[in-house]
Amino acid sequence: MIKQSMLVVLAHPDDESFPLGGTLAKYAALGVQITLICATKGEAGIPSLPQEKVALLRERELRAAAAVLGLSEVRFLGWKDGELAKVDESIAIQQLLPILREIHPQVVITFGPDGISGHPDHIAVHHWTAAAFDEADLPAKLYYIAPSEATMQGCGVIPTTEITGGPTVGIDIGDYRVTKVQAAQCHASQNPPFPGDPETEAEQVACHEYFVLARPIVQAISTDDLFNIWVKQEVSHERA
Ligand SMILES: [Zn+2]
Repeated sequence: MIKQSMLVVLAHPDDESFPLGGTLAKYAALGVQITLICATKGEAGIPSLPQEKVALLRERELRAAAAVLGLSEVRFLGWKDGELAKVDESIAIQQLLPILREIHPQVVITFGPDGISGHPDHIAVHHWTAAAFDEADLPAKLYYIAPSEATMQGCGVIPTTEITGGPTVGIDIGDYRVTKVQAAQCHASQNPPFPGDPETEAEQVACHEYFVLARPIVQAISTDDLFNIWVKQEVSHERA
């Protein structure tokens, strides 16, 4: 059996734990090889400290969170936090292409065009990853992290309509909420919203994390698994 692998491309340390920590923990526990690419070391995240110090601290925090989540590998692209919108997109795409070809993931996850929070770094990473994904032309699926309001829904509530840009997949993370909280707590420098005991804090975490299927372009799918989708309706037109 081919080892399943997932590539996650994000901008800052902590982007992995809050929106999709439960999903990452779940697939890692299922044996999926997960590689996280982080464009920056988040060195703009503590304005009162020198950036070199912050970069070291936040890299350590991210590696600790990755260990909690069970990720296989963390790599940094080496760009400057807060300045990704100024990066020459073709250079960033050329960084991602060999990684995509080396890892050959079946699933790639990044931000959607909204960057979740509208953060320009997130939006830049979205453009790089989508462009590299299309150029690499792998038989893989590309998902965007769904906007955060979707993750506010509680246990047992799955969205019935698409959230944005494509069909939505809700991943049940009920068994991984404590792990998600523990990973978020590794990012202590960013004051995670979970100050207390992970078991107690996990009770306020929603039971699903949501993703939008961006490639292949289809209208409707049925699934609760990012790797296995059943296409209910193809889209006939070519993508723009
Ligand atoms: Zn971020």
